[in-house]
Amino acid sequence: MLLASEKYLQISSGFIAWRAGAALVRLSEAERKFEEVAVRTDEPVVIVGAGHAGFQLAASLRQSGYEERIALINNEPHLPYQRPPLSKGFLEGNGDPQAVFFRPESFFRDYRIDLVEDHVVEIDRMTRKTSFQSTRSLNYRHLVMATGARNRLLRMPNAGHDDVRYLRSLADSEAIRERLENAKQVVVIGAGFVGLEFAATAAAKGIAVDIVELAPRIMARVVSPVVSGYFQARHEGAGCCIHSARSVSAIETANGRLQCVILDDGRKLPADLLIVGIGVVPNVELAMAAGLPSQDGIVVDQHLATVDPNISAIGDCALFSSHRYKSPLRLQSVSNAVDQAKCLAARLTGKIRPFDSLPWFWSDQGNDKLQIAGLIDSYEDIVVRGDPDQNSFSVFCYGDGILRGVESVNRVGDHMAARRLLAACTTVDPDKAANLSFDLKTAL
Ligand SMILES: Cc1cc2nc3c(=O)[nH]c(=O)nc-3n(C[C@H](O)[C@H](O)[C@H](O)COP(=O)(O)OP(=O)(O)OC[C@H]3O[C@@H](n4cnc5c(N)ncnc54)[C@H](O)[C@@H]3O)c2cc1C
Repeated sequence: MLLASEKYLQISSGFIAWRAGAALVRLSEAERKFEEVAVRTDEPVVIVGAGHAGFQLAASLRQSGYEERIALINNEPHLPYQRPPLSKGFLEGNGDPQAVFFRPESFFRDYRIDLVEDHVVEIDRMTRKTSFQSTRSLNYRHLVMATGARNRLLRMPNAGHDDVRYLRSLADSEAIRERLENAKQVVVIGAGFVGLEFAATAAAKGIAVDIVELAPRIMARVVSPVVSGYFQARHEGAGCCIHSARSVSAIETANGRLQCVILDDGRKLPADLLIVGIGVVPNVELAMAAGLPSQDGIVVDQHLATVDPNISAIGDCALFSSHRYKSPLRLQSVSNAVDQAKCLAARLTGKIRPFDSLPWFWSDQGNDKLQIAGLIDSYEDIVVRGDPDQNSFSVFCYGDGILRGVESVNRVGDHMAARRLLAACTTVDPDKAANLSFDLKTAL
């Protein structure tokens, strides 16, 4: 789960204000003509992207009683699948893709969801038409951008070598899984969730793992120092070597194979496989080309609508106007994709409510389950409940005396209680939070 950068938050808040204040009077000539195009009722809801958000929207529309046509555009050569296992169980398991598919093919038939294998290359808002790579096209009644995000690329000589890999898609995970069969020494660049999950999986297979992180501590942007410290010790205990506050200055190859990674202090880390996990960028280009405001995400309001009332955006690609946090946010998590899809399905079936779900997230690293409720980004005080030495604790983060977020390690009960507390905007006294005999549920 990552937040849009401060810079983008500032730029985007201008867009949201502009939309709220003056959208109607600023309709361009093109938009005026577009307003006059009649909607043909037999045209489908077209969902661009069959990831977590897109799949959930199609399923939720049917669950909400939507009877008309739904076209789910899938640009990957598999049935729609979930990504979380790709850096965890799928790498360890037997590699059967069926294990990650949301549903079998029959589900899409039974629920009349047209799964269109293609890539959308253009949106014509005037005629409400999506054009595909295959040269086919499809008119839409309502268009939903669920285009997700793609990996940020490492830019240096040899970064495109075959032994340098990224982990985002099922194809990526399958290729890495195959390479892990013979790998002896792996280097991971980036100690974020995906990089660390992969590192734990590789280390459990007995492979030597070096992790290089630019920030002074692991998962620095998204967890507290207590949680960083705990996971650092756990990964080191599992055999990983973590190089914090270091960057990679070169990648060396010889005889067609990766040889080593050179750090900015000159140290050489031997490697036969390099995994790059340095963040993602949202897929906004299609929306931008159609004239929809987008910076670090496609700009949507509290109802997940773009400036075009016939187009919405959800999931990793959406920069939404958050009432809860009083600023535009872009979140990258399954819970965000699923909650936004359900909220949009409700709007499209007439049950309009603003999107205001509490963000939450999980990451499984080795035998540890990390769960986060709320955002760990603006706090001054923390309180620890439980004992990191016993591998079971929660960190309560307070800002201005109010509970902002809770991180739980192997304490599912705390996480569930924290989600209810934060969702209800209820705080809990720090002394009580720290006291293990205090039942968090009674704070509600
Ligand atoms: C390895 C990995 C592990 C993760 N683990 C966790 C976890 O443990 N917990 C958690 O909460 N989150 C996790 N996440 C994040 C989570 O998977 C994402 O937040 C979620 O998938 C977002 O869903 P989405 O539908 O918005 O985007 P995506 O799942 O990325 O789907 C977008 C789809 O749209 C397609 N697309 C893009 N452009 C077009 C186009 N023009 N035409 C047609 N299709 C298009 C893309 O190819 C993609 O298939 C993980 C992610 C990865 C990669």
